[in-house]
Amino acid sequence: MGKIIAITNQKGGVGKTTTSVNLSACIAKLGKKVLLIDMDPQGNASSGLGIDKDNLDSCIYDVLINDMAVEDVIVPTAIKKLKIAPASIDLAGASVELVGLSKREYILKKALKSIKDEFDYIFIDCPPSLDLLTLNALVAANGVLIPIQSEFYALEGVSQLMNTINLVKKSLNEKLDVEGVLLTMFDGRTNLSIQVADEVKKYFTTKVYKTIIPRNVRLSEAPSYGEPIIIYDPKSKGAEVYMKLAKEVLKNA
Ligand code: ADP
Ligand code: MG
Repeated sequence: MGKIIAITNQKGGVGKTTTSVNLSACIAKLGKKVLLIDMDPQGNASSGLGIDKDNLDSCIYDVLINDMAVEDVIVPTAIKKLKIAPASIDLAGASVELVGLSKREYILKKALKSIKDEFDYIFIDCPPSLDLLTLNALVAANGVLIPIQSEFYALEGVSQLMNTINLVKKSLNEKLDVEGVLLTMFDGRTNLSIQVADEVKKYFTTKVYKTIIPRNVRLSEAPSYGEPIIIYDPKSKGAEVYMKLAKEVLKNA
């Protein structure tokens, strides 16, 4: 059975989308069948994989709100074994519209039932908030990957996130566990990055991935070409570390 991993942190700009796109691409490149679900109305994971999010006939919004089958919104990407369920700005209304639906936290989980066995991994790129979109992701998932930026206030909001994860585990999805914590945008030349890494390791102990993602300008350029790093610049440090992370994730499975 496939594994479903929500990539979550309610802080914006910590590397959720960069990790969603590049980890998905690397795991697919290693031969696994992967689906990436874009649950952020900004649609950055979609455009980062070359999807023209302003000209979609349908997207994950239609799955959540209009009862459309997820099969009908999935599209291929430039990486053979990687598919994506894209998002457009329509999704911005969904967290409010979901409030009126019954079993509103379970809608994504139900929608994934028919396809989850077709994939080895399903990753969900979450929005920067703990809203109903994120809640749907946490209920559908069996693991949470938490990217943490190696910056000031890195752990700010983390206890709120952990409370939410524990609440979901207790009342909505007992299968949910922290899959791993990923240090991102690390700069080994600064004491700050090193301090943050130490703090994160103290808080999460064995859950922290050995692979640490450094700051790499190629990683920030790739999205504007609609390409994951392993296509945009396969020889870059960014490609190397996300491939290393992919292997670590597979090994932990
Ligand atoms: P989130 O999805 O959590 O909001 P993003 O993945 O969009 O975060 O990253 C925020 C910004 O930082 C983006 O402009 C992205 O290109 C850039 N970025 C992310 N990871 C790295 C990295 N390792 N090195 C350099 N820039 C990065
Ligand atoms: Mg994002």
